[in-house]
Amino acid sequence: MTVPPTRERLERPDTPEVAALRRLKAAQPQLASAVDMQIELVTLYRRAQTRVTTRMFDLGAETLAARLSAGTPIVRFGDVPFDWPELRGLFRQVVDLLRRFDLIEPSDGDAMQALVRSGRPNPAEVANWYNLRATQGHADGHDPNAGGTQAQVLSLASRPFLSRAVEMIHQRVDLSPWTRPYCPFCGGEPELGTFSEANQRRLVCGRCAGQWPFDDMACPFCDSRDPRQVTSFEYGCWPDPARDGVYRLTGCDVCHRYLKSYVPRGASRPVMLDVDTIGSLLLDAAAAQRGYTG
Ligand SMILES: [Zn+2]
Ligand SMILES: [Zn+2]
Repeated sequence: MTVPPTRERLERPDTPEVAALRRLKAAQPQLASAVDMQIELVTLYRRAQTRVTTRMFDLGAETLAARLSAGTPIVRFGDVPFDWPELRGLFRQVVDLLRRFDLIEPSDGDAMQALVRSGRPNPAEVANWYNLRATQGHADGHDPNAGGTQAQVLSLASRPFLSRAVEMIHQRVDLSPWTRPYCPFCGGEPELGTFSEANQRRLVCGRCAGQWPFDDMACPFCDSRDPRQVTSFEYGCWPDPARDGVYRLTGCDVCHRYLKSYVPRGASRPVMLDVDTIGSLLLDAAAAQRGYTG
């Protein structure tokens, strides 16, 4: 039995993510549609997060160190507090949302709605999707579109559950043995980068929002470590760099993929995955012009 959602108060103040998204929309009206969609998505996440159970999983220091040094992500499928009716509900809502904003083909939308009506995606399917990254590593050649639209929707719908699992352990894990380009928590690919005050790069996972340190002269996609093959460009940011930092585009001249980073530079906020993927959208066109692919 699922607990019904608590009613949102109309006067509820914006979360920091929503406030930053509203500033972005005011500064860059051409992103209005993407911002509107993202505000709806983070609102869905916030509602789902209030209902995700917290499940502690305790790993001994030795197990943890062994997994990290072997390159095995820490969070196993069974550690994620999935609630299946909740996940399917969110999956359906994400499909509706992407459809309203014309981000998926109507035929794909129909197929995914039919999937939900038949009680899917089921635990075995979600496990397959999760484990493709978490246990097989990255032998699939880092295809950013692996699994197609359905996998992308599943990735969005799983976020509140994955990020809850990662939140529980993020502060307790010493990531110094981890030098891999993929997420030490769930095995996902980096969606963004960010920099600490000491100019150390951290990558941000696109599926669990976990962060990990990674050499800023190495490529997180092909793992090239040759600094001569890295090209960076910086772009002035919206709406106020002192508050919202700047974005950096880093292209790899070996695999021709690129990563966008949020550089705080004394700004008043840290990287926010759901904000900075949208705030940096204009960099995608700049990357494509320079011959890089996402
Ligand atoms: Zn992750
Ligand atoms: Zn590369």
